[in-house]
Amino acid sequence: AGPLLEVEGLSKTFTIRRGFPVARTATVRALDGVSFRVGRAEALGIVGESGCGKSTTARVALRLTPADGGAVRFDEQDVLGASAGAMRALRRRMQIVFQDPASALDPRQRIGASLGEPLRVHGIARGAALRARVADLLGEVGLPASAAGRFPHEFSGGQRQRIGIARALALGPDLIFADEPVSALDVSVQAQILRLLESLRQARNLAFVFISHDLGVVRHFCQRVTVMYLGRVVESGPVGPLFEEPLHPYTQLLKVSSPVPDPERPVAMTLQEGEPPSPLSPPAGCHFHPRCPHAFDRCRAEAPPLREAAPGRAVACHLYAQA
Ligand code: SF4
Ligand code: MG
Repeated sequence: AGPLLEVEGLSKTFTIRRGFPVARTATVRALDGVSFRVGRAEALGIVGESGCGKSTTARVALRLTPADGGAVRFDEQDVLGASAGAMRALRRRMQIVFQDPASALDPRQRIGASLGEPLRVHGIARGAALRARVADLLGEVGLPASAAGRFPHEFSGGQRQRIGIARALALGPDLIFADEPVSALDVSVQAQILRLLESLRQARNLAFVFISHDLGVVRHFCQRVTVMYLGRVVESGPVGPLFEEPLHPYTQLLKVSSPVPDPERPVAMTLQEGEPPSPLSPPAGCHFHPRCPHAFDRCRAEAPPLREAAPGRAVACHLYAQA
């Protein structure tokens, strides 16, 4: 079988109003030809600084935000062109976990009702069978069945994220987009949630698109990585080789800016060099050229395409133009 998820040439432009007292519109090219693949039961990391398009990629691939162009195929089915009925079936198989689990939980609703809602809406279970499914889901994420009768505010951040994960699991998905799922949690709690996600990946044959700015977390959790910079993929490959010997100058900078990754103590990435990038007015040519120590004339004029650099590895950089 082919890959579970194939994203090809995804593009998305937002128009925003900015400025006071005279408002003007500006165009943000959030995604510019983003392509990647996710295998069955594989965890693909998407890394990059804030504003690089990581979250937009997830939202557009899930059709929570319309795409301008490109293609998304899930299990060989066209997602962006799917009918409402086909999309309903696809939604059962593709779910999302957010950084802030509170955003996915109604504060006035008991946990049992929140977890039961997708099961009810999709006509999967009701009554005693539904309550039993909810108890199973809670057990699977390490919470007692009694949690069903309580409200979101009665739980810690880590417990709320477990509830968010249980909700994403309710419909038995094959793929979960996890958008910075541990970034808001204490380091010790991060490690617990990552262990839970890893055990779920194995037990349920779940695939993940794991979005993070944190190299340590991605290195620990993912098998392959896609690195994004200002709406474009700049490098992708298996996690070990990619971090041991990064090809793209941006990935190299990410690596030296991030302390030695320790799975028990994930650390936030910091980039000490250069200006933080803005998706509002990205530089011409290679978007990375103002921060790149290897930039040359061609980089300022021409955007480098993503090319295969070694088996399973791709890089978008003029330094690798000659085969
Ligand atoms: Fe640096 Fe040029 Fe490669 Fe961009 S294309 S990363 S500016 S060397
Ligand atoms: Mg984000």
